[in-house]
Amino acid sequence: MMSSQSMASQPLAMSSGSTQGFQPVFQAGVHDAQRGVDLHQGMALYLEDVCVDFDGFRALNHLSLYIEEGELRCIIGPNGAGKTTLMDVITGKTRPTSGSAFFGRNLDLSKLSTEEITEAGIGRKFQKPTVFEAFTVLENLQLAAPKHKQVRFSLSRKQSSETLAKIDMTLETIGLKNFRSKQAGLLSHGQKQWLEIGMLLMQEPQLILLDEPVAGMTDHETVLTAELCLELKKKHTLIVVEHDMSFIDSISEKVTVLAAGQVLADGTLAEVQANPEVIEKYLGR
Ligand code: ADP
Ligand code: MG
Repeated sequence: MMSSQSMASQPLAMSSGSTQGFQPVFQAGVHDAQRGVDLHQGMALYLEDVCVDFDGFRALNHLSLYIEEGELRCIIGPNGAGKTTLMDVITGKTRPTSGSAFFGRNLDLSKLSTEEITEAGIGRKFQKPTVFEAFTVLENLQLAAPKHKQVRFSLSRKQSSETLAKIDMTLETIGLKNFRSKQAGLLSHGQKQWLEIGMLLMQEPQLILLDEPVAGMTDHETVLTAELCLELKKKHTLIVVEHDMSFIDSISEKVTVLAAGQVLADGTLAEVQANPEVIEKYLGR
C-alpha cells in the first residue's frame, strides 16, 4: 500500500523435518503473482542458501530458513545480525546475491517487485510507524484497503459493505474500536503501531512480518501487543523480529537466532537460551 543450523552444523531442514517432500516450482515466473500464492504443501516461506552482499560486506551468509503456513516464528539476534536484511529480501527491497527465496511453492521473490510481493500476500510493518497523522483512525484504514476496494473519501458512505465490515473487524482486532474518529497523530506510540498493523490487515496478507513491534512501547502496551500477535496467528503466518525476551517468551513457539548473517540456532526460547554458542555470540554480551 502507500504506504540453523540447529546447533551450528545440523541443517535446519533435518531438525524440523518440515521441508521433506517440499519442491519449489522453479520455472514459475512473475505472472504467478496475480494468480496467487500456492501454499498447498504447507510451506509459506522457503529461503535456501541466501547470500546478500553489500559492496563486499556479506549481510546474509548462506542463510536457509523455512516457515510453515500458520507458524509464528520469532527471530532474535545481535544488532547487525541481518534480521532487517532478511525482511528486505522477503519483501523484495533487497535482492539476494545468490540462493533462492520462495513464497509458497510458486512465487520466486527474487523476481517480483515489492508491489507484486505485497499483492501476493506479504505484509510488512517497519519499526517506525508510518500512519497518516492528519487523518483519523478510520480514514487510515480506509486508505489502506486494497485499491480495487477503495472508494474516494467524498463517497465513503457508499464504500462497499465488505470493506466497512473489514474495517470494523480490524478495529476490534487492534483494540482501537473506541478511537475510530481520533486523529492518528494524537494516538500513543503503541496505538500508532497497532493502527499500522491494522492497515496491514486491510490488505489481507497471508504472511505478516513485524520488525521490532514493541520497541518504545510501555509494559502494558507490550502485553497487549503479545495478545494481538497471538490473535493474528489464528489467521496469518507471522515472522516477528524482537529483542524483548519477555515479549518473545509470551508469544513464541519456535525461535531462530541469527548472528553474522547465519542461523546460529533454532528451537524453543528455553532451548536457544541454553545454547552455549547463542550465549557467547548474543545473550552473553
Ligand atoms: P539487524 O536488523 O539484525 O540489526 P541489518 O540487517 O540491519 O541487521 O544489517 C546487517 C548488516 O548489513 C549490518 O552490518 C549493516 O550495517 C549491513 N547493511 C544493511 N543494509 C546495508 C546496505 N544497504 N548497505 C550496506 N550495508 C548494509
Ligand atoms: Mg534491524
